[in-house]
Amino acid sequence: MKFTWFQNKLTFVIIPEANGSVVRLKLSRAALWCAASLMLLLFGTTCILSVRSLHSTVSVSLKSVEMKGRTAQLEQDLHRKNAAIEQLQNDIYALSKQAAEVRSQMERMKRLEQDLHKLAPGSVERRKAGGQPVSAAVSAGAGGMGGEAFPVTEEQTHELAAATGARYTALHTEIKELASRLGQTKRQLQEKQERRQRTPDIWPTLSKVITSPYGYRKDPFTKKLSFHRGIDIAGKLGDPVYAVASGVVHSVAYDKLHGHNVVIEHDQGLRTWYMHLNSTQVSRGDKVDKGQAIGQLGTTGRSTGPHLHYEVMLSGKSTDPAPYMPSNNRKKERNK
Ligand SMILES: [Zn+2]
Repeated sequence: MKFTWFQNKLTFVIIPEANGSVVRLKLSRAALWCAASLMLLLFGTTCILSVRSLHSTVSVSLKSVEMKGRTAQLEQDLHRKNAAIEQLQNDIYALSKQAAEVRSQMERMKRLEQDLHKLAPGSVERRKAGGQPVSAAVSAGAGGMGGEAFPVTEEQTHELAAATGARYTALHTEIKELASRLGQTKRQLQEKQERRQRTPDIWPTLSKVITSPYGYRKDPFTKKLSFHRGIDIAGKLGDPVYAVASGVVHSVAYDKLHGHNVVIEHDQGLRTWYMHLNSTQVSRGDKVDKGQAIGQLGTTGRSTGPHLHYEVMLSGKSTDPAPYMPSNNRKKERNK
């Protein structure tokens, strides 16, 4: 019965305008069913495609918005990073200027060191220090005024950073070397100072009038030729008599020949002897400094008037005191 229903035909009458001929379409129910199904399928497919297309459009829009957001974020990051790079460049520039300034100070210190070396002769030979000259270092760090402004490239920034780093490394090494050399110079100066303290090179009296030099002379008492083992320096009674160098008092004594007298032991077998003193103010074993008063000028012992007989002994033998006197006065003495 069903099968028969499908085979039944339906007639569709299409009536156009009033004077047109009538069109009759005879279609079986099955054909109609197939046409309806096809239409439904087409409609369904269209719907699905539309929905998918809509979904894609929405998805693209969402992605576009998201991309815009990310781009804005990246732009912000880029801006921040550019600002940081600029700050770093400025820092490197400031450091390079500081390095140039330190280099300039270092050069001044080196000149000072050279001056110190002049004060301490016989010092170690100075090694030529490396590094660039002051002018080059300063010009690298200091900029001029005006001119066309070119933005600093990444390569230039790296070069400046590398050059600044190298300059600091070189300065670090030089400062260490300089500190070491200055330490050595200080020790040499101290040694020189101490040596000078131990070496007789000053007048033992306020007066600088030599009345009888070292060597052969006519004895003031016997008027016969004799050898004078020291120098006689005229002076006022009671004038201070000074130790000519630091040392230890070897003896303080009195006898008819030398009167009140003091012997001071210095370095390297050197002794100085002060005779005819009016009084003494040191004791045996006392440590004395250079220029320290040890007694008063007098005329005790075998003496014709107030004077100091000053004698220098090297390894127990009297020697000419002239080399142990201030150089200016040695000339005067020779001229007399
Ligand atoms: Zn004398």
